[in-house]
Amino acid sequence: MTAQTMEELVSLCKRRGFLFQSNDIYGGIKGLYDYGPMGVEFKNNLKQAWWKSMVYERDDTEGLDASILSSPVVLKHSGHEDTFTDPLVDCRACKSRWRADQLFENNKCPNCKSEDLTEPRPFNLMFKTAIGPVDDGSSFAYLRPETCQQIFTNFKNILDSTSRTVPFGIAQMGKAFRNEITPRNFIFRVREFEQMELEFFVKPGTDDEWHEYWINKRIEWWVNQGIKKENLKKIEVEKNELAHYSKRTVDINYVFPHGEEELEGVANRTDFDLGSHTKNQNDFKITSEVMKNSSSTTKLAVQDLEEKKWYIPFVIEPSAGVDRGVLALLNEAYREENVDKDNKRILLSLKPHLSPIKAAVIPLKKNNEELVNLSKEIKSNLQTLGLGRVVLENSGNIGKNYRRHDEIGTPICLTVDFETLEDKSVTVRDRDTMKQERVSIENLSEYYKKYFN
Ligand code: ATP
Repeated sequence: MTAQTMEELVSLCKRRGFLFQSNDIYGGIKGLYDYGPMGVEFKNNLKQAWWKSMVYERDDTEGLDASILSSPVVLKHSGHEDTFTDPLVDCRACKSRWRADQLFENNKCPNCKSEDLTEPRPFNLMFKTAIGPVDDGSSFAYLRPETCQQIFTNFKNILDSTSRTVPFGIAQMGKAFRNEITPRNFIFRVREFEQMELEFFVKPGTDDEWHEYWINKRIEWWVNQGIKKENLKKIEVEKNELAHYSKRTVDINYVFPHGEEELEGVANRTDFDLGSHTKNQNDFKITSEVMKNSSSTTKLAVQDLEEKKWYIPFVIEPSAGVDRGVLALLNEAYREENVDKDNKRILLSLKPHLSPIKAAVIPLKKNNEELVNLSKEIKSNLQTLGLGRVVLENSGNIGKNYRRHDEIGTPICLTVDFETLEDKSVTVRDRDTMKQERVSIENLSEYYKKYFN
């Protein structure tokens, strides 16, 4: 079972501290969200799982964390200054603004139904900001619209500082910014979001095979995070809809509460990016002072030792949205169940490695010194195992604590009661089955570790 509506998820996220509208107390800003105490843990766990599978568990990748502020020159060469646009129409009647391809009803304003619309005009989706103390328009940078461009500009640095040879990949996670005309559907389409991108460099001619490999690998990874395979769809992007750099792109779509849309794209970017950053920048009109005098003569190429010639590698790019991943996984994990004939419960049946809180330790009686001290000791022992956040719940209301931890997806709750003082055991309650068992404190670390394996 998943959530029936987006509202159910939005409400749970606010109630339990996963996500808040950004700048909420001043009325909020559209298309921006803040991750609360549970959200930040969940998002970090998801990113960590990606990093583990893309960097730690492979022998052919390296990591990178590059700057967000990007030189216009880089984004000129990448094609973003010229092509990263959406066609935009304004409604003259109600002054609202729409993406031309989202006017579903025969050129009528979706807001007021007026047909008095402007012609579509290209609107660049990149955010600009001034560099340096004087904002006279001459020195500016863009907030990166995708994380990958700095992977390409660092290609030679990484090659020179490691002993990599093609095929190999560079992984990066981090913020990206797009001035979306119509942000919507909660965190599905926002203006500030995170991406997890791998650029995997291969020899031309082997690119089709590597492309297939990464499409399958990525679907497998999402299934391992807890998404049912039947809720993921492999969609071939039509030739006339491909991005300017792409030879072939396959989208991995997910059935979100608002409908089926892209969760991740896997593109064959060919040698477009490394090729265009290899060109001499004087070929382009440079608008920013910051990079005016620079000229990239760097050769982003590698040598084929057998054929003794230089070539520009092709790149396969699996590019996933962290926030869309968060939304998809929350939706997959959402359950509403009858506990008995009068009571219902909501739970998030998340995979334990993604749960924001791994275990809650609950003394049966609030502020009872003996029970609380023992609970603190158990909490801190479990915390040192380094599997994620463990919390102490000193509110004395076991039922309320169980309900809260079901809703945030905590896999186990450990209750320390008066019997614990005698038999040195705690009651462990499982989130999904609600079954309870006694486990001795001595065996708790082993029990807990096995649970997470
Ligand atoms: P869409 O067609 O939905 O606008 P896109 O094809 O422009 O997406 P890409 O440029 O391929 O997206 O970006 C890679 C990934 O980054 C997407 O699969 C998505 O998960 C995420 N992403 C892109 N734009 C946004 C956004 N505005 N808000 C949240 N995530 C986004």
